[in-house]
Amino acid sequence: MEGEGGRGSRSTLLSDMDRQHFNRLATTGLMGLNLRPQIWLDLLSDQNPEVNGRRLNQRMSRLASFGANAAGGIDRVAFSDANIEALDWITGLLVESGFSPSIDFAGNLIARKPGSGSELPPIMLGSHIDSVPGGGNYDGQVGSMGALEVAASLADAAHTTRHSLEILIFSNEEGGKTGSRALAGEVEGFELDIVTASGFTIADGIQRLGGNPNRLTEVRRTDGSAEAFLELHIEQGAVLDTDEIDVGVVEGIVGIMRWTVTVDGSTNHAGTTPMDRRADAMVGAARFIDLVHTTARRMPGQQVATVGRLEAEPGVPNVIPGRVTMTLEIRDLSMAGIERVYNEINRNLVRITEETETRFSFQRFYTSRAAPTAPWIREIIETSARGLGLSTRRMPSGAGHDAQSIALFAPVGMIFVPSVAGISHAPDENTSPQDVINGVNVLLQTLLELDER
Ligand SMILES: [Zn+2]
Repeated sequence: MEGEGGRGSRSTLLSDMDRQHFNRLATTGLMGLNLRPQIWLDLLSDQNPEVNGRRLNQRMSRLASFGANAAGGIDRVAFSDANIEALDWITGLLVESGFSPSIDFAGNLIARKPGSGSELPPIMLGSHIDSVPGGGNYDGQVGSMGALEVAASLADAAHTTRHSLEILIFSNEEGGKTGSRALAGEVEGFELDIVTASGFTIADGIQRLGGNPNRLTEVRRTDGSAEAFLELHIEQGAVLDTDEIDVGVVEGIVGIMRWTVTVDGSTNHAGTTPMDRRADAMVGAARFIDLVHTTARRMPGQQVATVGRLEAEPGVPNVIPGRVTMTLEIRDLSMAGIERVYNEINRNLVRITEETETRFSFQRFYTSRAAPTAPWIREIIETSARGLGLSTRRMPSGAGHDAQSIALFAPVGMIFVPSVAGISHAPDENTSPQDVINGVNVLLQTLLELDER
């Protein structure tokens, strides 16, 4: 589907001659025969090399066949047979591109290719291929096939990078980011007993992939053990699609804090208690929900805040609720930003408690630290995208990704491509072939720029 139109067909810097020659080499596979590598290397130094879009999208289609369901999506949950079969197929492709693949103790597929500068730390790239039950064909898969296409394009050009390259297909992303968190030394013992969507526990699942849960701690990486990690991913939101932007430059993966919020009033008869003598916990809760929404909207920044669950007691039609239990969740790129929203909500809560005669208490039960991307990699991604004639926007990632675990020990960069209508974790998940190609071209260009540093 290479050459198909759509938003973001790039304005090229290559002359038509160069371009035709390059495309001919790329599509006929002559690059692999290493007949005229200097042409590609010329492109590398002062032009923008492109990946083989046809091969890339063919592989996307092939990957979609592993665990395909009747709805047009996939049920390739972590540790399933489909997961294992797809990994076997990918292992073969990595060998074809000159990489040495193996499964680590955490069940990650890791493939290495030495660089010319043996003392340099590796550049890592990759994503995941496991899906949620009833998932789509792009989440994780664009980044995985993208990393493989970068590997194949480099092999076509017989180009050896200075840094060693490491391609990673992380295990069990959707079920708790097990593989990437193991590399950061963050997986806790109790997690291994959790039963996943495959029906296997994480421990059994890791074993099925060829790992060893008893030696999980040995895969932990040390600070500075990698030059950088790059992940290409679909946005899973509608911002890029709606605003017709080609590439999102991710500023970081948002931090998350969650609280249980309890509102206490007085339970009383719904028929005999006059309206001016009520301490209705549900009314307090209703005004609180509105406060959360308006506070997050009004404050400058890109924070989001949600009341996602609510339970009233006693929960019958003819009794004024005496107690409401809710959740509050706030996400932002910085933990300080989350605190600011939380404090602002609490400042304005005083008026609500006075007017509704209710009391509020908060119990924090979940924290996930924000993971900013490296500012210097953001700039390289931006420059690379613009060099390819693509429009960019800086944005936070509201969803969690493997990159946030890797950020605990290495500088990370993330590239987003548009998700049609923002649909994700569903069979209708979609990204156009051209957008997939654009993202992988940015991934390749960013890698080459990083490698030159
Ligand atoms: Zn994902």
